[in-house]
Formats: sequence, structure tokens, C-alpha cells
Amino acid sequence: MPTTKTRRRRRPTEAQKARSAASKAVANEALHAYAVTCLSDPAEMEYFREMAASVGWKADPAEPGPGYSLLNVMLLAAQRRPIVHCGGYEYWLTQGSVVARGEKALATFRALKRAGDVEEIADDEQAPGKRRPRYFVKRGTFDVTQTAPREKCPHCGTAPTGCDDTTTRCPDTCAVFALRPGLKPPLALVNALMADQLMDDADEDDADA
Ligand SMILES: [Zn+2]
Repeated sequence: MPTTKTRRRRRPTEAQKARSAASKAVANEALHAYAVTCLSDPAEMEYFREMAASVGWKADPAEPGPGYSLLNVMLLAAQRRPIVHCGGYEYWLTQGSVVARGEKALATFRALKRAGDVEEIADDEQAPGKRRPRYFVKRGTFDVTQTAPREKCPHCGTAPTGCDDTTTRCPDTCAVFALRPGLKPPLALVNALMADQLMDDADEDDADA
């Protein structure tokens, strides 16, 4: 039955849709591979739960405050390990650090909020009736292990050589890089989320943030 839809959004261009779909495909492939790793190795699974506790996870991503959805923690860990403490470029400046030269931003899923975010709109309107989460993949997150101190590190004493030094880093043994204590996500919850990545990795729309 033909339906008419009122489109309140600007339509994304084909190139934008292709870029968005490619970003999601890359993210979902990384999630799939990491789920296989964790589900086949209890030590990797435990390591993931410790990293989730350190980074800060929340069961309800819509809840205000710091922390990442468990799926986003998983996506971050799929891209880089360890992950210890994550934030955007500006966040690290407020922490007395700077993203070190040459470091690439990590991707996370973000919920689509504004109707004008053309590039972020997925072409997922082929299945009317099914409620589809809308999200996009954005690269803008850095782990503390990707940062350098802007002032003398209170833990190890490492100091930048000048105000534009973004290469002098703390040693790997610095306490700033140690996993932080926190609430680990329940194993059953993590198992279910990881199993989802194996079943539905071809269906990008199930990978909601
Ligand atoms: Zn340090």
C-alpha cells in the first residue's frame, strides 16, 4: 500500500548517505570481531568489564551525566585497548592534558537529535512500521592514553618542554593510565550485548547507542 510521508528533514545527499553507511559498517565489523574475542576468552571478557568500570558506563544512555552506553564502551574497546578514561578534545584541555600529536579520534555511536543534521541521517526509511533507532557514528573521543600533560604531571612529574609540546608523554607506568575502580557491568548484560553483535551485525539499525 503506498503511503505518503511528510518529510520534515532535509534529505542527505547520496555521498553523505554512503559515508554514513560506511562508518556504521566499519563500527559494526569492529564490534563483531571484539565480541568474538571476548566471548571466546573469559580473560578478555573480564578485561572488558574492568575497562567499562574505569571508563564509566550507564545502562540508560539517555540519562544525563558522564559515562558511555555499554555499547559505546564496547565500540571504544574494539578500537583501542586499554581504554581507561575517555573524553573529547576540549575535555582533555580542561583536565590539564592535550591530545598527543598523531593520535586519531575514536568513534562512538551518537543519537540523532537535530533534524538539520543532514550528514547524520541514515537512509533507513524502507521499513515503515518498524521503530528504527536513529544514530550516527562520530569520531571525536580520545582515551587518556592518547594524551600528553600540558603541565607537570602530578603522578609522575613528566612535564612538557613548552606550551606547544604535544609529544612529551607520561611513561606507560604513570598512574594516570591505570584502570580506575568503578562498577563493573553485570556479566549477563555484557554477554547478551556481545551475543547481539554476532547475530545482528548485518543489521546496522540494531546497533543503537
Ligand atoms: Zn604522569
